[in-house]
Amino acid sequence: MVEEEKAEDAVDEELDVTTIAGVGAVTKQKLNEAGIFTILDLATSGPAEIADATDWDITKSVEVNNKARKRLVELGRLEPDFVSATDLLTRRRNITRISTGSKNLDDLLGGGIETWAITEFYGEFGAGKTQICHTLCCTVQQPIPEGGLDGGVVYIDTEGTFRPERIMEIAQNRGFNPEDILSRIMVARAYNSAHQELIVKDLGKMIEKHKVKLVIVDSAVAHYRAEFLGRGTLAERQQRLNRFMHNLLRTAEVYNIAVVMTNQVQSAPDSFFGDPTRATGGHVVAHTSTYRIYLRKAGKNRIARMVDSPYHPERDSVFMLNERGIDDPSEETSKRK
Ligand code: ATP
Ligand code: MG
Repeated sequence: MVEEEKAEDAVDEELDVTTIAGVGAVTKQKLNEAGIFTILDLATSGPAEIADATDWDITKSVEVNNKARKRLVELGRLEPDFVSATDLLTRRRNITRISTGSKNLDDLLGGGIETWAITEFYGEFGAGKTQICHTLCCTVQQPIPEGGLDGGVVYIDTEGTFRPERIMEIAQNRGFNPEDILSRIMVARAYNSAHQELIVKDLGKMIEKHKVKLVIVDSAVAHYRAEFLGRGTLAERQQRLNRFMHNLLRTAEVYNIAVVMTNQVQSAPDSFFGDPTRATGGHVVAHTSTYRIYLRKAGKNRIARMVDSPYHPERDSVFMLNERGIDDPSEETSKRK
């Protein structure tokens, strides 16, 4: 075994699932088979999944899930359930941000994409959702003073639209080394909703190993829409989506990373005023996303609007798509030069 691997194992020891009372070697085996390797995985898995993996009843699963969370608090890797509002403010001051590559869009987001949160971009085809994701793959890798987090990326591609060539173009035009940028993006092609759920459940090791600071799901709801057709399947679809969204959110919180997801729109004929489109996925997605940004096309420009944010003003912001990925409209870019 090489030195590096030994060091990795040593770090993992305090996170081993058997450090939780009630988890023995046999259960460990079962948990591992279900992709649960560490206490972090146990804490992010949710009781239903732990029950599925171990054959425990839900009460015991809840208990072990709680114990895992408590242990993480003791280890200083997770915030306790109750913190004072003062501590919360301090913690919120520690939230870091990733520049999107467009100053206008950064301003709309209060400085960039936040860690510890899910940011959802939704809009019609060609609105720029995938382009934003590609640009973020580059900007997150920049050093902190330049707007990045010096972090790696996990890109979950459900539509087969991830393009390494486009990443190289964006990297080149932003003055980054394209090979270095590509080497820190881990891409997973998810072929159906169950596969997509499995990938998200198994993210822990990947995040730690590659110092991931950004997880992208492009797009999050498409498979669910395609697989669950008709009214009769709606309840099951929403339940599965709910579990998926909460796994994503817990991952963002436990690892202090940014999660960005994209979403399509569907027409809403019952809305008489404003834009007759709304995001897919219903309340489950709407309530779990921390920030929702609606994108529209306006000629060669794109207009972004923050929707339903707890503290951002509702206003529009303009950006464009070009060889740098997303960028500020050309007049503004040239003015700054
Ligand atoms: P969908 O819902 O179909 O996934 P989307 O919102 O993800 O749509 P994007 O793929 O992000 O849409 O945006 C597509 C647009 O990006 C195209 O209209 C194209 O004009 C623009 N675009 C793609 N590549 C480039 C490039 N290299 N230079 C400039 N513009 C580009
Ligand atoms: Mg797309």
